[in-house]
Amino acid sequence: MRKPLSDKLKQITPSMTLSITNKTKELRSEGYDTISFGAGEPDFPVNDVIKKAAIEGIEKNYSKYTEVTGMLALREAICEHLLRENGLRYQPNEIIVSSGAKHSLFTALQALLSDGDEVIIPAPYWVSYSEMAKIAGGKIVVVDTKKENNFILQPEELKKAITSRSKVIMLNNPSNPTGAVYTKDQLKAVAEICEKEGIYILSDEIYDQFVYEGHQFVSTASLSDAIKDITITVNGLSKTYAMPGWRVGYAAANQEIVKAMSTIQGHCVSHTSSISQYASITALKTDQAFVQDMLEEYKRRRIFMKSCFDSMQGISYSDPMGAFYFFVDVSDFYGKAYEGTLIEDSLSFCETFLKHYYVAIIPGIGFGNDHFVRFSYACSMDDIKRGLGRFSDFLSKIK
Ligand code: PMP
Ligand code: GLU
Repeated sequence: MRKPLSDKLKQITPSMTLSITNKTKELRSEGYDTISFGAGEPDFPVNDVIKKAAIEGIEKNYSKYTEVTGMLALREAICEHLLRENGLRYQPNEIIVSSGAKHSLFTALQALLSDGDEVIIPAPYWVSYSEMAKIAGGKIVVVDTKKENNFILQPEELKKAITSRSKVIMLNNPSNPTGAVYTKDQLKAVAEICEKEGIYILSDEIYDQFVYEGHQFVSTASLSDAIKDITITVNGLSKTYAMPGWRVGYAAANQEIVKAMSTIQGHCVSHTSSISQYASITALKTDQAFVQDMLEEYKRRRIFMKSCFDSMQGISYSDPMGAFYFFVDVSDFYGKAYEGTLIEDSLSFCETFLKHYYVAIIPGIGFGNDHFVRFSYACSMDDIKRGLGRFSDFLSKIK
C-alpha cells in the first residue's frame, strides 16, 4: 500500500510554459516540422567570451562548493552591474546568487511568508508566481489589470486588494506575458502604497534590458531608500546573456532578507554551479556590445510580428513595451470550430493549433487570463515568418 503524496499537490498545477515546450520538443524528435513560440528561451548561442571563461573555470579547478550566497567576485560584479544599469547601490552582502531567477523568487517567498499570508499578484502574471506562492504557504490574491490600462496595475486596484494579511506583491516589470513597462510615476504610485502598508515588493526585473520604442525601465528599488528597504530585486543571466540552461539568477535585498534566503537556500541547493558562477563574472564585466546586438534583433522581430498581427482579422493585442512576448486576444474565436473541433478557450485554441500546424503558443489561462495566448519571439526570424503564416491560415479556417 502506498500513502498519498503531499496535500499541497492538489493546489499546484505543472508549469504550462515548460509542458508545452516539452511536448513541442517531443513532436520535433518524432520528425514533425515544429515551430515554437513557446518558452521564453533565447535562441542565441552564448557569447564566446563567456564560453571561454567557463572553460577557464573548469581548467582552473573551480570545482569546490562556493559560498551559499555565491562567489564574492560574482556578487561584486552583480553590484557593479546593478549600479551601472539601474542606478541601484547594493553591497555584496546584500546579494544572493541562485539557480535562476525562478529559484530566487521561490526562496524569497519561502523567507517572507508565514502560512496564510496574502500574496498580491497582478494578472496577467508569469505562470510560476501563483504556484510558488502556494507552495510557500501563501494565499494568492489575484488582481486583474486591464488591457485599456496597458496591463499596468492602478493604485486603486491595489488598494482594494489589500487586507491586514497582505505581505508581498509580485511585480514583474517589464512584464511576461504582456510586455507592460511601468513609467516612473506608475511604479512610484504602486510602491508608495506598499511602503505605507508594509508590503514587501518582490520585483522581478529579469527583462530589464528588453525595453522598446522610447519606453524606459525604472528599477523599483531606485525610487527611494524606504522603497529599496521593502524591495527584493530579482534578476538573472538567462535572458540578457542568453544562458538559461546555465542557471544563474540573483536577488538583492536588505541583509536581513538575504540572510534568511541564504539559510533556506543552504538547506536545499547550497548554491548554483561554480562553473556557471565563474563564467557569469565575465558575462557581467565584459564589453556589453553583444547584448545590444541581440536587442537589435529582438527589435526587428517585434516590428515584424507587429506588422503580421496587424494584418490579421479577429485578434487584438496591446503593444508590448518590453520583454519578448506578444499577448494576443483570440477570444473572438471562442465558440467557433476548426475542422469540427470546438475552440472553447485558450487551452483548446493552442492545442488545436499545435495538433494541426505543429506550432507552439502558450494559453493565456496559465497567466491568469483565458482570453489571450502568448507568443514568444525568442526564436529565429525564419521560424517567425513560417509560424505566423501558419497562424494566419489557422485563423482563416476557424468558422
Ligand atoms: N521571471 C520571469 C518573468 C520569467 O519569464 C522567467 C523565465 N524563465 C523567470 C523569472 C525565470 O528565469 P530563470 O529562472 O531562467 O532565471
Ligand atoms: N520564463 C520562460 C517563459 O515564460 C521560460 C519557461 C519557464 O521557466 O517557465 O516561457
